[in-house]
Amino acid sequence: MAGPDLDAVIVGSGPNGLAAAVALAQRGASVLVREGADEIGGGTRTAELTLPGFQHDVCSAVHPMGILSPFLRTLPLGEHGLEWLRPAASVAHPLDGEPAVMLRRSLDATAEGLGRDAAAWRRLVGPLLGRPHDLLADVLAPLRVPDHPTAMARFGLRAVFSANRLARIVFREARARALLAGCAGHSILPLTQPLTAALGVLFAVTAHVEDWPVPRGGSRAIGRALASYLRSLGGRIETGQPVASLAELPASRVVLFDTSPAELVRIAGDALPAGYRRRLGRYRYGPGVFKLDWALDGPIPWRDPACLDASTVHVGGSLEEICASERDMWRGRLAERPYLILCQQSQVDPGRAPAGQHTGYAYCHVPPGSPADRTHAIEAQVERFAPGFRDRILARHAMGPADFEAYNSSYVGGAITGGVADAFQLFTRPVARLDPYSTPNPRLFLCSAATPPGGGVHGMCGYWAARSAGRRLGLAG
Ligand SMILES: Cc1cc2nc3c(=O)[nH]c(=O)nc-3n(C[C@H](O)[C@H](O)[C@H](O)COP(=O)(O)OP(=O)(O)OC[C@H]3O[C@@H](n4cnc5c(N)ncnc54)[C@H](O)[C@@H]3O)c2cc1C
Repeated sequence: MAGPDLDAVIVGSGPNGLAAAVALAQRGASVLVREGADEIGGGTRTAELTLPGFQHDVCSAVHPMGILSPFLRTLPLGEHGLEWLRPAASVAHPLDGEPAVMLRRSLDATAEGLGRDAAAWRRLVGPLLGRPHDLLADVLAPLRVPDHPTAMARFGLRAVFSANRLARIVFREARARALLAGCAGHSILPLTQPLTAALGVLFAVTAHVEDWPVPRGGSRAIGRALASYLRSLGGRIETGQPVASLAELPASRVVLFDTSPAELVRIAGDALPAGYRRRLGRYRYGPGVFKLDWALDGPIPWRDPACLDASTVHVGGSLEEICASERDMWRGRLAERPYLILCQQSQVDPGRAPAGQHTGYAYCHVPPGSPADRTHAIEAQVERFAPGFRDRILARHAMGPADFEAYNSSYVGGAITGGVADAFQLFTRPVARLDPYSTPNPRLFLCSAATPPGGGVHGMCGYWAARSAGRRLGLAG
């Protein structure tokens, strides 16, 4: 009897869905990606959100994990239109009344800016820079025996701490403490929680390996390059087709979901056992974000102009202030002076705005589903380090948690990285299971950021899910 025509259907075309499709197609599988939105890309889309000629990244903007991804870096994405543009520095961290702290590719240049903590920064990060790609291959993976145990052990010794504790143990002064806190703040966790040092140290390592780049033309270039390469391998993509039930999908041997666990439950229904659905129902999505995109009539007037070198600016002041901001949002309160992740894409890619003008965005973390308008708090924080900033704003576009969830069902309650990545859920996402990508139904797999290694544009959730589904399909390699 003839089997289904397709080996795999992938629901959702975010970076993980496309990476999964590519990884399967590379091994000879016939694949179809079905995307609900009219445009592919999920969290990697770019649009004129404010004024004509201003290209804004709706979600992801800066991509250290994209350029360093153990899977994406093996793909010929340059031949399919992806061009990484590198800033002069990865991160700027402005402080009141003193020069900004700069995280640059050069370990020496970065250390020089850290005063009495120069040697401590070298000791913290230096030992991890010997074979960074080995480290990333193990970190951006599900829980398993590491391929490079020495590198992982070195990393683990630093990662187990809370960011707050590690910063206080290792550094004596405010500058280095703030720099580490700014990097760790991407975890969207209170920085007093164990393991929050992990992301801080990891992001610092990536910045010494690659300048945190933006794609020419916007983050949509990543999805487009993946899609173009997928098509060259024979894969097909259909857009504008939201999937509501398994019955709507063409026959295939496996289905991979680049969706939230909640969406998987909604679509698969009884095809998954009730117990597993209940466990998925207990998945924690975590805080949301409130984001502003700006069209600007000039560069951001930072008090320290060195900040213009960086693709990303961590706005939030000292370690203590950033800890307070992230503690507040975790406890369901709005921080008075929120920690911001601010990206200035057009500084690196001038084509994003008309000549002489600029784009930029900043977001802060807020309690899940918070309806609060954080425009004033965000712009006040920028103004604090860049007096006159508000005068440069030609137009702004705001998105809160409800807008994000309406834009993409994967952002439940406005949570942008696929779910809480704390010590309890980092490797047990979406549930504790030997193979977290598989489900009790042998045909169905999850490949989104709600699986290890979690949020970010690196495609590694998709890659590992494709490995798991590939075993089911009996694919070689
Ligand atoms: C404001 C913001 C800023 C960010 N900044 C960065 C950054 O600078 N760098 C970085 O690396 N990461 C960043 N991220 C995170 C990153 O965008 C996500 O972690 C990443 O996109 C997750 O990829 P994914 O493939 O798992 O899911 P997604 O990118 O969310 O894609 C899921 C796709 O599935 C589709 N879908 C869902 N349900 C269905 C259905 N029923 N039928 C059909 N299709 C469906 C959706 O439309 C979507 O296209 C940011 C995210 C946000 C929101």
